[in-house]
Amino acid sequence: MRDVVLLGSTGSIGSQTLDVVARHRERFRVTALSAGGSRVGALAEQVRAFSPRVVAVPSAEAADALTEALGTDVPELRVGPDASTELAGLDCDVVLNAITGAAGLRPTMAALAHGTTLALANKESLVIGGRLVTSAAGPGQLVAVDSEHSAFAQALRAGRADEVRRLILTASGGPFRGRTVDQLRDVTIEQALAHPNWSMGRVITINSSTLVNKGLELLEAHLLYDVALDDITVVVHPQSVVHSMVEYVDGSTIAQCSPPDMRLPIGLALAWPDRLPDVAAPCSWAEPTSWTFEPLDDETFPAVALARRAGAAAGTAPAVYNAANEAAVDAFCDGRIGFLDITRTVRTVLDEHLASQPDVPSEPGAAWIADAQLSIEAVLAADSWGRRRAEDLTGKETT
Ligand code: NDP
Ligand code: MG
Repeated sequence: MRDVVLLGSTGSIGSQTLDVVARHRERFRVTALSAGGSRVGALAEQVRAFSPRVVAVPSAEAADALTEALGTDVPELRVGPDASTELAGLDCDVVLNAITGAAGLRPTMAALAHGTTLALANKESLVIGGRLVTSAAGPGQLVAVDSEHSAFAQALRAGRADEVRRLILTASGGPFRGRTVDQLRDVTIEQALAHPNWSMGRVITINSSTLVNKGLELLEAHLLYDVALDDITVVVHPQSVVHSMVEYVDGSTIAQCSPPDMRLPIGLALAWPDRLPDVAAPCSWAEPTSWTFEPLDDETFPAVALARRAGAAAGTAPAVYNAANEAAVDAFCDGRIGFLDITRTVRTVLDEHLASQPDVPSEPGAAWIADAQLSIEAVLAADSWGRRRAEDLTGKETT
């Protein structure tokens, strides 16, 4: 029996994780749940269905609403901005971090510090924390939930680390694949949210349309599997069946394939290194099927190239890349900027960050700091600065 702490339980990954757990109650028990407090009704239902010992929400209002929704049967509540981080440090077998965005960093660090296996959906925490996160992780402690990175982990079982030549990271291309810059100028939020293959939370869905998600995944793969950025190739594969591939030195390429369904990598991460039976439908071979591949159009979708720059600089640069993007996505969703302005904003903020010198006095977080001097505080300061700078550029009113 594995005790699971699930952070971000009411989201897309969180609810699919509970779906996997519900079908394997003989193997998993939910010890604790956390959520952001915007869907208290759904959280109350999860509490009734899985009877966690502890539940965390960030605010007193959410805690009151949850208590009211639950009536008499209320578990231990942890309340406040650090409540998810407290949960990540509880005794259990696996923490699954499915919080969205940079808010996942402290919980990720807490789970690693406690020595618990961390099933990581929250790629942002790994990307922004960089070497801070990987150096805090013991061997095998970090297990990927992201489908591409789960595919790498599976394909890497086919050879030794010194036999790997490169990783091939597949991208669906999102809803705007094949468009030119001109055709992207006026796309709407509804169009950006209509992902062809996956149903996901809002931020990652917009990130899939700009290819920022692939930029984050490039950095995620580099950090998780210690492969140089230049040895990771992004290729567009619109069907999202080949979830990624590993090329070995002899010229062999090993792919992991399955119809798009996040329950498969979630189930594997929870049970790692074992496989659970019948988690998701396999590929069907009864009908003619085509899987196609094409190079990424880096000019129309500059997000991956920008991520390569941030990753090559490392230090606080990936945190700024992510923070500027999160703020720009909010600005796009609020109608303050157009679609193309999302990656434009990221580029401007990243350029400013990389140009500023650490020894010249400026705002906290504005100056780039190298890996060797990285701390959680430096990452979070860079995150705040990148976010605020992107908000300035996108015309957010400050109160
Ligand atoms: P969602 O937006 O659907 O869910 C996010 C979850 O995090 C919700 O439960 C939300 O609570 C909770 N949350 C948000 N902020 C906080 C906070 N400060 N403290 C505690 N909980 C918080 O996102 P997804 O499930 O789509 O994505 C989650 C992560 O997984 C992201 O990092 C994403 O990149 C990654 N991922 C997602 C995939 C997918 O298919 N969806 C695929 C691969 C990776 P509330 O409901 O109250 O807002
Ligand atoms: Mg992915």
